[in-house]
Amino acid sequence: MSKMSIVVPCYNEEAALPVYYGEICRVMDEMPELEFEIIFVDDGSADGTLGILKEMNATDGRCRYLSFSRNFGKEAALYAGLKSAQGDYVATMDVDLQDPPGLLPEMYRILKEERFDSVATRRSDRTGEPRLRSFLSERFYKVINSISKTKIVSGARDYRLMRRNMVDAVLKMSEYNRFSKGIFEWVGFRTKWLEFGNVGRCAGETKWSVKKLFSYSIEGITGFSVAPLSLASVIGVMFCLLSFVMIFVIIVRTLVWGDPVSGWPSLVCIIFMVSGIQLFCTGIVGEYLSKTYLETKHRPIFILKDSSEKDGGEGHGENKEF
Ligand code: UDP
Ligand code: MG
Repeated sequence: MSKMSIVVPCYNEEAALPVYYGEICRVMDEMPELEFEIIFVDDGSADGTLGILKEMNATDGRCRYLSFSRNFGKEAALYAGLKSAQGDYVATMDVDLQDPPGLLPEMYRILKEERFDSVATRRSDRTGEPRLRSFLSERFYKVINSISKTKIVSGARDYRLMRRNMVDAVLKMSEYNRFSKGIFEWVGFRTKWLEFGNVGRCAGETKWSVKKLFSYSIEGITGFSVAPLSLASVIGVMFCLLSFVMIFVIIVRTLVWGDPVSGWPSLVCIIFMVSGIQLFCTGIVGEYLSKTYLETKHRPIFILKDSSEKDGGEGHGENKEF
């Protein structure tokens, strides 16, 4: 009998968890040919999330949980869940029902019957999302896809079902600065994309502010493209060329019309602009340097405080670092 693992990151989700559990149980009943395990990853929640997870683990053997010592972020939670999953098929999905569990049987059917290694999902629209957020998201996908070899599908969710071989490949990418949408693309394999209309949260509130999304997008760009690093040289060459033209113009002007002392305001503007560009380019280098710095420290991606794996099987006992 094949086994399917479902990895679910949870951060302050006490309101959504019971609703999710009811729904996923209904979906699991639709696939009697499979054995299931649900790995809930409590990402340092401050509410009753862990209590609910413990209760679920006690009443339903399919439910397991990992609990972090603090909030490490969704990416760390996904990594922890994938690491601990033992299934032949592994799904990742949000707990707020914005990734409809009802799609799972269809995703499983595709993996079983067609020659794909993974079935991923994307939102076909962004209804109900704030305008500014949609606009910035669209820009982000445009920018990253124009400068990175790893193409990221616009509106891609972290909701997907993978075969074991792809999960193992994803786990080999143990980088500290994680951007799953890029990692799933980078490892390759054949992926089929399913679309669904945007669904609102079933309970609770989104954990993503525009600021958090912005730093997440920087993570994506610096993680999967080094094009911004070349920006400094490109702008430098352009400014050199421009300065040659300007020198030529000034020489000719001086020879023809003499040299009246003027041009102080324009000089100040030019100095401001050039130093602004220099600082911007230094900032880009700094951004990459800081990522490199964090990577070289080899800090664990997450730290467990508690988990349902009492035997510490496969190195997932309490207080383990990864
Ligand atoms: N999440 C997490 N850690 C965080 C933020 C979010 O594990 O620091 C989980 C959250 O519980 C949910 C999923 O990631 O299951 C998606 O979060 P959310 O719904 O807030 O994001 P959105 O759907 O608005 O992009
Ligand atoms: Mg959500």
